[in-house]
Amino acid sequence: MDTATLTGKDLAASLNAETTARAKALTEQAGRAPRLALVVANDDPASAWYVNSLEKSAANRGIDCEIIDLGADATAEALRTELSVRSADPDTDAIMLQTPLPAGVALDEVSPAIAAPKDVDGVSPLSLGLLTAGSPGFAPATAEAVVELLKHHEIVLEGRHVAVVGRSNVVGKPLAHLLLAENATVTVCHSRTADLPAVTSAADVVVAAAGRIGLVTGANVRSGAVVIDVGTNESAEGKIVGDVDAESVRGTAAALSPVPGGVGPVTTALLMRHVVMAAEQAQRMRGLTGA
Ligand code: NAP
Repeated sequence: MDTATLTGKDLAASLNAETTARAKALTEQAGRAPRLALVVANDDPASAWYVNSLEKSAANRGIDCEIIDLGADATAEALRTELSVRSADPDTDAIMLQTPLPAGVALDEVSPAIAAPKDVDGVSPLSLGLLTAGSPGFAPATAEAVVELLKHHEIVLEGRHVAVVGRSNVVGKPLAHLLLAENATVTVCHSRTADLPAVTSAADVVVAAAGRIGLVTGANVRSGAVVIDVGTNESAEGKIVGDVDAESVRGTAAALSPVPGGVGPVTTALLMRHVVMAAEQAQRMRGLTGA
């Protein structure tokens, strides 16, 4: 079977063009560019690379991106304070908290300090709760990117069985809710799933988001399945690779998203779109209150 490649580049390009136009219009209306505060508290090289790419992407869209580096030894209190100050600051439209966090600081200790209207990567418990309830709010960009990538490639989700491998609060769980909203039947797998291959082999769509190189192979997806690879792992050779053994899956699956070039570019494009959406909403509120 010829396996189609579900690239994210075209979709990212069209999202980016729309975001750039909306950022320009908003800058003219508000008298300043949309502003993202990107809070960092680590000295991890992969994170530094990602922060740098977000900064470039924001600049290309006409978005101001301020990096607030609190250092790898920042305390939970210092992070909460910074996030609270930015949440209350009328000149900050959007907030992102970069991971990893300092040793001993858990995401759920600090993320509640991000105000939901500015939580553009949907990391706070309130954002996750709103998503679960089907209420308006920002979904984590990676989870949303998976659904948008599938829709872009006209993969039908309604009534299909989707196996999501991974149950983190930033990818697996929010993705399960987004897929339910598309009327898919969802099975969420994790490290204690008794027979992972049995679940993935039964699914029409498999989404691998476990952070384990080669976890999903051709032997554990069914013929004609659609496979989305969210994994971003560094191989022993220093290359970025996914969770899917692409070589063995090609030939069995009907379609597979590549790493890099699949979910990744769509994730960044959606993050930037969320920043502009948050800034538009703030501008509407200023208009209503006359502030
Ligand atoms: P995470 O917080 O480490 O969660 C990993 C999940 O996978 C957990 O739920 C874990 O189960 C499950 N898991 C681990 N080993 C497993 C196994 N052998 N079988 C079944 N399930 C297993 O990771 P994350 O933040 O969700 O990220 C997942 C992957 O996506 C990573 O590779 C990350 O780099 C990548 N990612 C990509 C993007 C992008 O834009 N492309 C963005 C974010 C993340 P337990 O809950 O039982 O521990």
